[in-house]
Amino acid sequence: MNVEVPLLEVRDLCVDFTGRRGALRALDGVSFELAAGETLGLVGESGAGKSLTGAAIIGLLEPPARMAAGEVRLGGARIDQLPPAELRRIRGRRIGAVFQDPLTALDPLYTVGRQLIETIRTHLPLGERAARERAVQLLRETGITAAELRIDHYPHQFSGGMRQRVVIALALAAEPQLLIADEPTTALDVSIQAQIIGLLRRLSRDHGTAVLLITHDMGVIAEACDRVAVMYAGRIVEIGPVRAVIETPAHPYSAGLMASIPSLADERERLAQIDGAMPRPGAHPGGCPFHPRCPQAFERCRVERPELMPAGATRAACWLVVDSSQEAHG
Ligand code: SF4
Repeated sequence: MNVEVPLLEVRDLCVDFTGRRGALRALDGVSFELAAGETLGLVGESGAGKSLTGAAIIGLLEPPARMAAGEVRLGGARIDQLPPAELRRIRGRRIGAVFQDPLTALDPLYTVGRQLIETIRTHLPLGERAARERAVQLLRETGITAAELRIDHYPHQFSGGMRQRVVIALALAAEPQLLIADEPTTALDVSIQAQIIGLLRRLSRDHGTAVLLITHDMGVIAEACDRVAVMYAGRIVEIGPVRAVIETPAHPYSAGLMASIPSLADERERLAQIDGAMPRPGAHPGGCPFHPRCPQAFERCRVERPELMPAGATRAACWLVVDSSQEAHG
């Protein structure tokens, strides 16, 4: 494989909700790249389009959502037009997925070992014994103690945090190149959250797995990611290295989200909030979609929609960026 080619390329991805009254655009021109071993966070409030982006990449959009335009490439080859059976194979073998609720990924009727061994044998040329050894090793790697005993336990015999570790082991069973994790820590206690984030980071470092981490929680992004894409109303409004977006956000929406990262002294209840609500698909206002909520909106924002443009170390879709770069050159 050409090393210049990013592992994952998403180009101008558009997703529509189709109904009797026509199509409502829910994702509008989402583009980003992800390199092997890199962790990219997708962050935004609920309804921003983060989970839709993840679902579109792995071909799991549920009607009425459908991909209306754009391309998804894995290792340089398009995967968005593959027949369902081929995409299913890629989903197990080259892309692993972890969702918020570990119970949806596990079958309560089978031991975790049986589920791991079956997944391993579906995707890798291993016999029963070798697959079992690999399953024990995966459980160990994901931090499950006494893995050789726990492998014969059923999902209900694990705590929520331990179950999520099992799901991560399952997602990694076939050594995927890309892991898509959608709110993987949201249902867990804060201390367990930190352990799972540490685990994802370690696995990505040790195995070179790229991780697309979808979350509404800027604190999780700050801990886990190399780069972050901030989403608002179905578009990326800022993308760049995580430190730059946190310390010097160029987009007022990113700045609002950053203000919601709790510092050690803060209580979660006292976090700054961004006034107003995310517009629904089909109700996006003209101009910059954030303008009704933006404390810095000016006339141009109401009529013209900004596209992503260079903004220091990041790229942001905001007219303030143009203003300040013109001042800098003026
Ligand atoms: Fe705010 Fe205008 Fe920038 Fe949109 S373009 S984020 S409304 S300043």
